[in-house]
Amino acid sequence: MNEVSAYVAEGEQDAEATVRPKRLAEFIAQHRVRDQLDLLLRGAMGRGTPPDHILLSGPPGLGKTTLANIVAAELGSGIRVTSGPAIERSGDLAAILTSLATGDVLFIDEIHRIAKPAEELLYSAMEDFRVDVVVGKGPGATAIPLDVEPFTLVGATTRSGLLTGPMRDRFGFVAHLDFYAAADLEQLLHRSARILGVPITDEGAVEIAGRSRGTPRIANRLLRRVRDYAEVRADGMVTLATAREALKVYDVDALGLDRLDRAVLRALVDSFKGGPVGLSTLAVAVGEQPDTVEEVCEPFLVRAGLLARTPRGRVATDAAWQHLGRALPAGRIS
Ligand code: ADP
Repeated sequence: MNEVSAYVAEGEQDAEATVRPKRLAEFIAQHRVRDQLDLLLRGAMGRGTPPDHILLSGPPGLGKTTLANIVAAELGSGIRVTSGPAIERSGDLAAILTSLATGDVLFIDEIHRIAKPAEELLYSAMEDFRVDVVVGKGPGATAIPLDVEPFTLVGATTRSGLLTGPMRDRFGFVAHLDFYAAADLEQLLHRSARILGVPITDEGAVEIAGRSRGTPRIANRLLRRVRDYAEVRADGMVTLATAREALKVYDVDALGLDRLDRAVLRALVDSFKGGPVGLSTLAVAVGEQPDTVEEVCEPFLVRAGLLARTPRGRVATDAAWQHLGRALPAGRIS
């Protein structure tokens, strides 16, 4: 597991699995993607062939892994799960590919991190359902062609811009998942609360949804934290009051920014006078990996209008100064 997924998923897999939707009909919002996937899957099932390869892109926690599992469930197929960083040698990938059964789904998370030789092997598997495994070294090396059963690759990436052209071209269907609207997260919270047996009021759900950074994984995580608070310090009911008090304890502010988000903004504003500043300098200032800052914090800070990415570096917007309660410096041109 790399830095980014460790940061967002640590210790939460079990609880997440309980509320993870199993079928397309349970998957909340993202109507366009859902509709397109529904057509793709039904079309393929009608013809009795595996559907085209699917690429899902978008920030962490928006439902890519969930959709990959749903694709397999809707097809009634098996699923093999791996990730780009886990495939170090092309032999690892060849072993996985040749062990797939007809119609299986192969899910590769963080596909943009796959090593180059493995990526090239994947091309021929995706296109021709065969791979050439090279045995031996030097002049005596021979390529042994092996058949791969027809399968569907589901690739997920937080950075579709880092995928090579040939890789992207081999996906027949590409979907971008966007941040969720607050109303969709309210619906998601009511569903999760029902499954977890947590009583929740509409106002409680609205409060948590508004602070979830448009992200289902965060909404579910905050729900569990507010539940702890409600059970330990109140009567167990998640209400507006318990949500507000709990989120104060957990340092989640009115916009849903957490410590790291605020640390990034504070560094930008206080240490670099609002920028522009390069990503790696900013990451060092907050003691995080550049990837974590770029993939976990920035998409939401940009979307919330607090940070801008410019060719010269990261810049804090006027809204960032205001959100931190700082006066705008005199003479600042925004
Ligand atoms: P990603 O792979 O994009 O990082 P996941 O698929 O692991 O995100 O989603 C994180 C959690 O959020 C899942 O456990 C799931 O419960 C929840 N989730 C994501 N999208 C939805 C959705 N559309 N409807 C309901 N729950 C969702």
